[in-house]
Amino acid sequence: MWVHDAQGRAYLDACGGAAVSALGHGHPDVLAAMHAQIDRLAYAHTSFFTSEAAEALADELVRGAPAGLEQVYLVSGGSEAVEAALKMARQYFVEVGQPQRTHFIARRQSYHGNTLGALAVGGNAWRREPFAPLLAPATHVAPCYPYREQRADETPVQYGQRLARELEEAILAQGPERVIAFVAETVGGATAGVLTPVPGYFQAVREVCDRHGVLLILDEVMCGMGRTGTLYACEQEGVVPDLLTIAKGLGGGYQPVGAVLAQRRIVEAMSRGSGFFQHGHTYLGHPVACAAALAVQQVIRRDGLLAKVRDDGAHFGRLLEQALGAHPHVGDIRGRGFFWGVELVAERAGKTPFDPARQLHAQVKKVAMARGLMVYPMGGTVDGRQGDHVLLAPPFIATRADLERIAGLLAEAIAAATQAAG
Ligand code: PMP
Repeated sequence: MWVHDAQGRAYLDACGGAAVSALGHGHPDVLAAMHAQIDRLAYAHTSFFTSEAAEALADELVRGAPAGLEQVYLVSGGSEAVEAALKMARQYFVEVGQPQRTHFIARRQSYHGNTLGALAVGGNAWRREPFAPLLAPATHVAPCYPYREQRADETPVQYGQRLARELEEAILAQGPERVIAFVAETVGGATAGVLTPVPGYFQAVREVCDRHGVLLILDEVMCGMGRTGTLYACEQEGVVPDLLTIAKGLGGGYQPVGAVLAQRRIVEAMSRGSGFFQHGHTYLGHPVACAAALAVQQVIRRDGLLAKVRDDGAHFGRLLEQALGAHPHVGDIRGRGFFWGVELVAERAGKTPFDPARQLHAQVKKVAMARGLMVYPMGGTVDGRQGDHVLLAPPFIATRADLERIAGLLAEAIAAATQAAG
């Protein structure tokens, strides 16, 4: 749970970097698996050989996946996984004789990575801006952000249905026969704090996509691999996407690794058509990365960490509520499992964000680090302006005492930073 810097200061890791270190740092079982793999084989190009490590990891992922997700493509990170998923979706339609499908629909306040394809579907305004002329056209609809966008006269379920109707209108406006896929994070992460979907939202989205032959790509790079208490976050929504991306917690930071899980019909269309997926990077299915990821996933299963994340996650939510709920600058606390976001506001009643020039989220990070706590700050967008969020994603091994300490130190840091901000 701890990271030590060159000056010997210790930091309690409450965010796993950016929701990466699912097992904390220096886990002996993962290190042993990596050593064993390096001793046997460090690298094999996938055009010559697959490796036992890659095969075993793919089996492990499919074994825990929602029914239908049966094929795995192993890459080196989140953006790579998203790029691959976007291209798989496009190639699928080329193979099945619908090459006119060229358009993606995604959401505002979303993040899917920093490569050009991922940026094109991402809804993070400032990251897109300098590259906008280079990005493939995509339509962005509203994210599921009840704290700010659910109306007083609608229930959470009605709000979710309204968002699904908005998606359908966007598909119809584009022409359904032109749309490749709808891309969304199952639980939003890196742009607007943790955005948990309202009940029924993703089921309604799945129905809309099916009605128009549009694929559903769920990006679980941050929220997947147990982070929200189930291996895949979409399990809790009762939907199965056509393509699903994972990374971060997959390898727990021990190696750079990501993956796309695909429904069989997508892969079969490519096998029947041009015979292969027209993509590929040198380090696909890297054996040491796969061995590390497999070890991380085996530890999670062996040690019952999903159940622990569910139970202790609910407890963590209560601790955060106790420590921060009454703070005048804490607007919202939301999350699931070991994935929580705190949205900071200048004024609670009006949900008014702080002046972006203050960079309050960065201040909270700084003050927290001075107290020996690592939290992930985010300047997400709120109504076109920057808002201030703090993301918490502790390693799954965190004890209840660790969680209590995190909540306490964060409360101190927020009090100190907001006092300084005035
Ligand atoms: N998708 C999501 C949902 C993410 O949170 C991230 C990283 N924050 C990415 C994609 C990109 O992953 P990477 O940084 O590993 O390329």
